[in-house]
Amino acid sequence: MKTTDKRIKECTYCEETFRDNTRPNNKKTCSSRCANEVKKVRQRKEYRIDNPKKPTQREIYYYDHLEYPFWLDERIGDNQEWKIAVPHRPNKVDYIIGVRQVEELNGGRKRRQETLTYNGDEVGSSRTQVHFVEHNREPGEVTSYKMTPEELKEYLASKKVDKV
Ligand SMILES: [Zn+2]
Repeated sequence: MKTTDKRIKECTYCEETFRDNTRPNNKKTCSSRCANEVKKVRQRKEYRIDNPKKPTQREIYYYDHLEYPFWLDERIGDNQEWKIAVPHRPNKVDYIIGVRQVEELNGGRKRRQETLTYNGDEVGSSRTQVHFVEHNREPGEVTSYKMTPEELKEYLASKKVDKV
């Protein structure tokens, strides 16, 4: 709505249209409440000029522009990560430690076991296919040698020479 009335204005804070009834016609806000808010915004801006925002620990110590994100200080990194990765409750941690100790006693994590009767290539319920190696070959012929102590000594001596 356009108007030529210079007393009809838009509040700089809430953007509501209002009529300025002051004699100098210099109001910028519709109400003392809006005027107060504008004043607060201005004061905050002025305060920031003398008191610049302190950088957060993340801004100081965290390097996320590197190939791998990196905390300059490990202790601060751990403190910060706590907010992201919430640790287990202590009793849950005790439970996990307990299970690990039992697994250690049993020589590793227990996996499901089953016995298959071998009739060829069996397929177990775990869908693991077992192929058995064919082993109908006869062992090779064994050759044995007999040496006299002198021959043995000579043989070992020749081996020693080969090494050097
Ligand atoms: Zn207003």
